[in-house]
Amino acid sequence: MANTDGKMILDQLVAMSRALGEPARDYVILGEGNTSARVGDDRMFVKASGARLEGITADGFVEVNRGRVLGMLDAGELTDAEVEEGLRKALVDANSKRRPSVETLLHAYLLGTEGVNFIGHTHPTAVNAILCSREGKQAVAGRICPDEIVVCGVAPLSIDYVDPGVPLARAVRAETQRYIGQYGSRPQSVLMQNHGLIALGATPTQVEAITATWVKTARIITGAMAFGGPRFLSDDNVARICTRPDEIHRRRGITGDRR
Ligand SMILES: [Zn+2]
Repeated sequence: MANTDGKMILDQLVAMSRALGEPARDYVILGEGNTSARVGDDRMFVKASGARLEGITADGFVEVNRGRVLGMLDAGELTDAEVEEGLRKALVDANSKRRPSVETLLHAYLLGTEGVNFIGHTHPTAVNAILCSREGKQAVAGRICPDEIVVCGVAPLSIDYVDPGVPLARAVRAETQRYIGQYGSRPQSVLMQNHGLIALGATPTQVEAITATWVKTARIITGAMAFGGPRFLSDDNVARICTRPDEIHRRRGITGDRR
């Protein structure tokens, strides 16, 4: 991968991250959330640990060797110190003062799934209000609007609470593989119980669209609770939206998705 390509990808990642970090959107505060982008087959940019998405610049990211990070997912039990050391060794610039976020592990895996070039992980208040609720899992068990399906796909991947770091990345990997077996394609979004949202995109525009649509969907679900709870679309309704040519065309317009 030529350096100019890497620079262009980093510029796109910075712009996407700043958009996700805008305070008015209420997706993250302080150092919450992290973003990443794939650079060729074996490298990635990821937000440095502790950096804020709001107003982030290129200095807020580190470039890491994705293969080295993935090796940690197959390495058996690792102590916190071993994980930190593994992430440090994965840095392309060994002299970097910054460290990759511990969530680099799940970014590294998800950037290897089909057609994923950019990832935005946020903790939107509207979405977490549901993911942190006792009935949260049931509240997101069905689809509520055609737009949700057009932008976010047939269903999110839901993950029960797991300790962040290696255990969470392994759970996301196992559940993504199960999801692909069930639906025949990868998820567009991941909902992590008591934690937050991951939007997976071919483009930054798609990541932003998925995040915005999930926040709106979460607000609708919360509102629907005042009138007896969400009334989910039937499986037939959902399948029809997924395959209608006009909806596929609309999705391309909204997300830049070329599939
Ligand atoms: Zn998080």
